[in-house]
Amino acid sequence: MKKIIIAIDGHSSTGKSTAAKQLAAKLGYAYIDTGAMYRSVTLFALQQKIIQNNHINENGLKKRMNEIEIRFKLNSTGGKQETWLNGVNVEAEIRSMEVSNWVSPIAKIGFVRDAMVDLQQKMGTEKAIVMDGRDIGTVVFPQAELKVFMTASAEIRAQRRYKELLETTPDANYNEILENLKSRDFMDSNREIAPLKPAHDAKILDNSSISREEQLQMLESWAIACINA
Ligand code: C5P
Repeated sequence: MKKIIIAIDGHSSTGKSTAAKQLAAKLGYAYIDTGAMYRSVTLFALQQKIIQNNHINENGLKKRMNEIEIRFKLNSTGGKQETWLNGVNVEAEIRSMEVSNWVSPIAKIGFVRDAMVDLQQKMGTEKAIVMDGRDIGTVVFPQAELKVFMTASAEIRAQRRYKELLETTPDANYNEILENLKSRDFMDSNREIAPLKPAHDAKILDNSSISREEQLQMLESWAIACINA
Protein backbone atom coordinates (compact mmCIF):
# COMPACT_ATOMS: atom_id res chain seq x y z
CA MET A 1 0.00 0.00 0.00
CA LYS A 2 1.18 3.53 -0.75
CA LYS A 3 2.71 5.34 2.25
CA ILE A 4 1.83 8.98 2.75
CA ILE A 5 2.72 11.95 4.96
CA ILE A 6 -0.11 13.45 6.99
CA ALA A 7 0.37 17.01 8.27
CA ILE A 8 -1.97 18.20 11.02
CA ASP A 9 -1.69 21.88 11.90
CA GLY A 10 -3.94 24.23 13.78
CA HIS A 11 -4.61 26.46 16.75
CA SER A 12 -3.37 25.63 20.27
CA SER A 13 -5.26 22.96 22.20
CA THR A 14 -7.53 21.86 19.37
CA GLY A 15 -6.78 18.22 20.18
CA LYS A 16 -4.31 17.89 17.32
CA SER A 17 -2.08 15.49 19.25
CA THR A 18 -4.93 13.21 20.29
CA ALA A 19 -6.33 13.13 16.77
CA ALA A 20 -2.92 12.62 15.19
CA LYS A 21 -2.05 9.84 17.64
CA GLN A 22 -5.35 8.02 17.03
CA LEU A 23 -5.02 8.34 13.28
CA ALA A 24 -1.42 7.09 13.35
CA ALA A 25 -2.48 4.08 15.45
CA LYS A 26 -5.31 3.24 13.00
CA LEU A 27 -2.97 3.39 10.02
CA GLY A 28 0.04 1.80 11.73
CA TYR A 29 1.98 5.04 11.09
CA ALA A 30 4.57 6.81 13.26
CA TYR A 31 3.40 9.91 15.14
CA ILE A 32 5.49 13.00 15.83
CA ASP A 33 4.40 15.81 18.17
CA THR A 34 6.45 18.78 16.97
CA GLY A 35 5.05 21.04 19.72
CA ALA A 36 6.84 18.76 22.20
CA MET A 37 10.10 19.54 20.39
CA TYR A 38 9.68 23.33 20.75
CA ARG A 39 8.57 22.78 24.35
CA SER A 40 11.75 20.76 25.02
CA VAL A 41 13.96 23.56 23.69
CA THR A 42 12.05 25.95 25.95
CA LEU A 43 12.51 23.70 28.99
CA PHE A 44 16.25 23.47 28.23
CA ALA A 45 16.44 27.29 28.06
CA LEU A 46 14.64 27.60 31.41
CA GLN A 47 16.80 24.92 33.08
CA GLN A 48 20.03 26.49 31.83
CA LYS A 49 18.92 30.01 32.82
CA ILE A 50 19.06 31.07 29.18
CA ILE A 51 15.65 32.49 30.01
CA GLN A 52 16.06 34.72 33.03
CA ASN A 53 14.54 37.93 34.37
CA ASN A 54 11.82 37.79 31.71
CA HIS A 55 14.39 37.74 28.92
CA ILE A 56 15.70 35.18 26.40
CA ASN A 57 19.46 35.25 25.85
CA GLU A 58 19.29 34.34 22.14
CA ASN A 59 23.06 34.23 21.64
CA GLY A 60 23.40 31.96 24.65
CA LEU A 61 20.77 29.63 23.21
CA LYS A 62 22.34 29.64 19.75
CA LYS A 63 25.70 28.54 21.19
CA ARG A 64 24.10 25.69 23.10
CA MET A 65 21.59 24.34 20.55
CA ASN A 66 23.96 21.43 19.85
CA GLU A 67 23.62 20.30 23.48
CA ILE A 68 19.91 19.60 23.00
CA GLU A 69 18.96 16.01 22.25
CA ILE A 70 15.25 15.30 21.83
CA ARG A 71 13.86 11.78 21.54
CA PHE A 72 10.46 10.15 21.55
CA LYS A 73 10.16 6.82 23.35
CA LEU A 74 7.25 4.51 24.05
CA ASN A 75 6.73 4.09 27.81
CA SER A 76 6.95 0.58 29.23
CA THR A 77 3.36 0.28 30.48
CA GLY A 78 0.71 1.84 28.28
CA GLY A 79 2.62 2.09 25.03
CA LYS A 80 2.25 5.88 25.35
CA GLN A 81 4.81 8.00 23.51
CA GLU A 82 6.85 10.27 25.77
CA THR A 83 9.34 13.05 25.18
CA TRP A 84 12.90 12.75 26.47
CA LEU A 85 15.30 15.69 26.70
CA ASN A 86 18.99 14.83 27.12
CA GLY A 87 18.23 11.41 28.58
CA VAL A 88 15.47 12.55 30.96
CA ASN A 89 11.74 11.93 30.56
CA VAL A 90 10.24 15.45 30.42
CA GLU A 91 6.74 14.57 29.18
CA ALA A 92 4.97 16.16 32.17
CA GLU A 93 7.37 19.05 32.68
CA ILE A 94 7.06 20.36 29.11
CA ARG A 95 3.30 20.78 29.63
CA SER A 96 3.74 23.15 32.64
CA MET A 97 2.37 26.71 32.48
CA GLU A 98 5.91 28.09 32.70
CA VAL A 99 6.94 26.26 29.53
CA SER A 100 3.61 27.13 27.85
CA ASN A 101 4.21 30.80 28.59
CA TRP A 102 7.69 30.82 27.00
CA VAL A 103 7.31 28.38 24.12
CA SER A 104 5.93 30.78 21.49
CA PRO A 105 8.69 33.39 21.98
CA ILE A 106 11.24 30.54 21.67
CA ALA A 107 9.47 29.06 18.62
CA LYS A 108 9.71 32.30 16.68
CA ILE A 109 13.53 32.34 16.74
CA GLY A 110 14.89 31.50 13.27
CA PHE A 111 17.77 29.19 14.29
CA VAL A 112 15.47 27.24 16.63
CA ARG A 113 12.99 26.70 13.78
CA ASP A 114 15.76 25.73 11.34
CA ALA A 115 17.05 23.06 13.73
CA MET A 116 13.59 21.64 14.46
CA VAL A 117 12.45 21.64 10.81
CA ASP A 118 15.64 19.84 9.85
CA LEU A 119 15.02 17.13 12.45
CA GLN A 120 11.36 16.81 11.44
CA GLN A 121 12.17 16.44 7.76
CA LYS A 122 14.65 13.67 8.61
CA MET A 123 11.94 11.88 10.62
CA GLY A 124 9.68 11.92 7.55
CA THR A 125 12.02 10.48 4.95
CA GLU A 126 10.35 7.04 5.12
CA LYS A 127 6.83 8.57 4.95
CA ALA A 128 4.08 6.59 6.83
CA ILE A 129 4.03 9.41 9.38
CA VAL A 130 1.49 11.69 11.03
CA MET A 131 3.05 14.92 12.27
CA ASP A 132 1.24 17.66 14.15
CA GLY A 133 2.27 21.25 14.69
CA ARG A 134 1.85 24.73 13.25
CA ASP A 135 3.88 24.72 10.01
CA ILE A 136 3.93 21.09 8.95
CA GLY A 137 1.76 21.54 5.85
CA THR A 138 3.22 24.93 4.96
CA VAL A 139 6.97 24.56 5.66
CA VAL A 140 8.08 21.12 6.89
CA PHE A 141 6.18 18.98 4.35
CA PRO A 142 4.48 21.23 1.78
CA GLN A 143 4.32 18.07 -0.39
CA ALA A 144 2.36 16.09 2.24
CA GLU A 145 -0.41 14.08 0.60
CA LEU A 146 -2.92 15.03 3.32
CA LYS A 147 -2.96 18.39 5.12
CA VAL A 148 -5.45 19.16 7.83
CA PHE A 149 -5.95 22.44 9.69
CA MET A 150 -7.75 22.04 13.03
CA THR A 151 -9.57 24.76 14.89
CA ALA A 152 -12.32 25.27 17.51
CA SER A 153 -13.60 28.15 19.64
CA ALA A 154 -11.07 29.46 22.21
CA GLU A 155 -13.41 28.78 25.16
CA ILE A 156 -14.02 25.17 24.18
CA ARG A 157 -10.30 24.62 23.70
CA ALA A 158 -9.47 26.17 27.09
CA GLN A 159 -12.09 24.00 28.80
CA ARG A 160 -10.65 20.83 27.26
CA ARG A 161 -7.09 21.81 28.17
CA TYR A 162 -8.17 22.72 31.73
CA LYS A 163 -9.68 19.26 32.26
CA GLU A 164 -6.55 17.60 30.89
CA LEU A 165 -4.16 19.69 33.01
CA LEU A 166 -6.18 19.05 36.20
CA GLU A 167 -5.01 15.44 36.05
CA THR A 168 -1.43 16.48 36.79
CA THR A 169 -1.89 20.01 38.19
CA PRO A 170 -4.70 20.30 40.77
CA ASP A 171 -4.38 24.11 40.96
CA ALA A 172 -4.75 24.61 37.18
CA ASN A 173 -6.60 27.85 36.39
CA TYR A 174 -9.11 28.07 33.53
CA ASN A 175 -8.66 31.82 32.89
CA GLU A 176 -4.89 31.53 32.84
CA ILE A 177 -5.18 28.69 30.30
CA LEU A 178 -7.60 30.70 28.14
CA GLU A 179 -5.28 33.73 28.14
CA ASN A 180 -2.25 31.55 27.38
CA LEU A 181 -3.81 29.88 24.39
CA LYS A 182 -5.16 33.14 22.98
CA SER A 183 -1.77 34.78 23.29
CA ARG A 184 0.04 31.76 21.77
CA ASP A 185 -2.38 31.77 18.82
CA PHE A 186 -1.71 35.46 18.33
CA MET A 187 2.09 35.09 18.50
CA ASP A 188 2.09 31.92 16.35
CA SER A 189 -0.11 33.51 13.66
CA ASN A 190 1.74 36.83 13.53
CA ARG A 191 5.39 35.78 13.69
CA GLU A 192 7.67 36.56 10.77
CA ILE A 193 8.95 33.04 10.12
CA ALA A 194 6.52 30.19 9.36
CA PRO A 195 3.38 31.83 10.79
CA LEU A 196 0.47 29.58 11.67
CA LYS A 197 -1.95 29.49 8.74
CA PRO A 198 -3.71 26.79 6.77
CA ALA A 199 -1.85 25.51 3.71
CA HIS A 200 -3.74 26.54 0.56
CA ASP A 201 -4.79 22.93 0.00
CA ALA A 202 -5.50 22.00 3.66
CA LYS A 203 -8.79 20.53 4.76
CA ILE A 204 -10.26 22.68 7.54
CA LEU A 205 -11.59 20.75 10.51
CA ASP A 206 -13.56 22.76 13.11
CA ASN A 207 -14.16 20.36 15.98
CA SER A 208 -16.11 22.74 18.29
CA SER A 209 -19.19 20.57 18.04
CA ILE A 210 -18.20 17.14 16.79
CA SER A 211 -17.20 14.15 18.89
CA ARG A 212 -13.73 12.61 18.90
CA GLU A 213 -15.17 9.51 17.21
CA GLU A 214 -16.72 11.54 14.38
CA GLN A 215 -13.48 13.45 13.98
CA LEU A 216 -11.43 10.26 13.77
CA GLN A 217 -13.79 8.81 11.17
CA MET A 218 -13.48 11.96 9.10
CA LEU A 219 -9.66 11.94 9.30
CA GLU A 220 -9.47 8.27 8.51
CA SER A 221 -11.66 8.61 5.44
CA TRP A 222 -9.55 11.51 4.16
CA ALA A 223 -6.37 9.50 4.77
CA ILE A 224 -7.69 6.41 3.01
CA ALA A 225 -8.78 8.50 0.05
CA CYS A 226 -5.23 9.90 -0.23
CA ILE A 227 -3.61 6.48 0.17
CA ASN A 228 -5.80 5.09 -2.61
CA ALA A 229 -5.47 8.11 -4.88
O1 C5P B 1 1.41 21.92 19.90
P1 C5P B 1 1.77 22.67 21.16
O2 C5P B 1 0.66 23.54 21.68
O3 C5P B 1 2.35 21.80 22.22
O4 C5P B 1 2.93 23.66 20.69
C1 C5P B 1 3.53 24.56 21.58
C2 C5P B 1 4.05 25.77 20.83
O5 C5P B 1 5.14 25.37 20.01
C3 C5P B 1 3.08 26.46 19.91
O6 C5P B 1 2.27 27.41 20.58
C4 C5P B 1 4.02 27.13 18.92
O7 C5P B 1 4.51 28.36 19.44
C5 C5P B 1 5.18 26.17 18.83
N1 C5P B 1 5.13 25.30 17.66
C6 C5P B 1 5.57 25.82 16.46
N2 C5P B 1 5.63 25.02 15.36
C7 C5P B 1 5.26 23.75 15.42
C8 C5P B 1 4.76 23.20 16.62
C9 C5P B 1 4.69 24.02 17.73
O8 C5P B 1 5.92 26.99 16.37
N3 C5P B 1 5.36 22.99 14.33
